[in-house]
Amino acid sequence: MLVVKKFGGTSVGNAERIFNVAKRCIADYNAGNDVVVVLSAMGKYTDVLIDMAQEINPHPSKREMDMLLTTGEQQSVALMAMAMNALGVPAVSLNAFQVQMHTTSAYGNARLHKIDKDRIQAELDQHKIVIVTGFQGIDKYDNYTTLGRGGSDTTAVAIAASLHADLCEIYTDVDGVYTADPRKVETARKLDEVTYDEMLELATLGAGVLHNRSVELAKKYGVTMVVRSSLNNHEGTIVKEGNKMEKMIVSGVAADTDAARVAVVGLKDEPGIAFKLFNNLAKKGINIDMILQSIGHNGKKDISFTCTNEDADEAKAILTDAMDFESIDVRKDVAKVSIVGAGMQSSAGVAAKMFEALYDANINIHMISTSEIRITVLINEKNTERAMNAIHDAFDLGNAD
Ligand code: ASP
Ligand code: MG
Repeated sequence: MLVVKKFGGTSVGNAERIFNVAKRCIADYNAGNDVVVVLSAMGKYTDVLIDMAQEINPHPSKREMDMLLTTGEQQSVALMAMAMNALGVPAVSLNAFQVQMHTTSAYGNARLHKIDKDRIQAELDQHKIVIVTGFQGIDKYDNYTTLGRGGSDTTAVAIAASLHADLCEIYTDVDGVYTADPRKVETARKLDEVTYDEMLELATLGAGVLHNRSVELAKKYGVTMVVRSSLNNHEGTIVKEGNKMEKMIVSGVAADTDAARVAVVGLKDEPGIAFKLFNNLAKKGINIDMILQSIGHNGKKDISFTCTNEDADEAKAILTDAMDFESIDVRKDVAKVSIVGAGMQSSAGVAAKMFEALYDANINIHMISTSEIRITVLINEKNTERAMNAIHDAFDLGNAD
């Protein structure tokens, strides 16, 4: 069997932990498997590097930033190879150049194009454990790039896809994917499995366990992922295609407090207004999430939307410049709370049940949006945890059946 094992920063945060990870990988190797290991930078080292850059230059070039950040992962892979060698096992570390991990040139947020699997395969053929730097790539000009924060997950899945690995294990400091953040919902329960689509929604909603592009990639190439803890031997959560054993309608509740609502009141009620409004924002790279348009009255209409807190003031400035309306209002003390579940597309009354739970908890809903497998509400931020708990209880997510 060929396994790709990815370990995050906390899992390789110091020498003792590096040895623990090494032993875990060696156990797989000794069982006769081919093992590829993908690592993040040690602990919070990527943040340390960012701070170092800030001290030197508050507006560093993105190219130099990536040149700097890639050193974090290079440290951990070399140290890991040394640890495995010290334990008597042949191992080799490889960086993005050596692996030929090709990406776009979008420094800081590059996308993977293709991986040359020959080098990794050649090392595996010599019975070595191969340890690869996560997060980094190279562009067509031979510059280093990075895949965005948390991008090592995506490296691991990409390598698993290109080598046709049997499994891609993502080791982290929690036991798997939960029905809700256990720090906020006491009755939260670890899920045995989630579908790619559910995981994609959860990752995008800020559940924080996986880089969302890693899930996209896993779905595209049919890579089976497992999210599990590096600190114990618990089973973890399997992320794979459809047909779950657990027949849950809703799999989880997620919250994102980094949301702001921008309400544009008294726009002209005529064709092209929504286009103009969102086009102006898109041109400046402002991402919009929920959208609400009122019905027209007296030739006027209102449009509200949500974006990140960081983008909200800029959105207001852009629209004030570019559009005609009566007033604009920005609220940052709001949060998005969502339920996600592949089962809800074939089940009536899910939305009603969620809204009832919020009503019972006396929580007002400002906006609603849905996808096939997700319902999101915008509420006051101070109610976030109460809302999560109320919904979690209403759907009885703390119980396995
Ligand atoms: N070290 C990088 C980060 O902190 C990549 C990763 O951890 O996946 O974002
Ligand atoms: Mg991560």
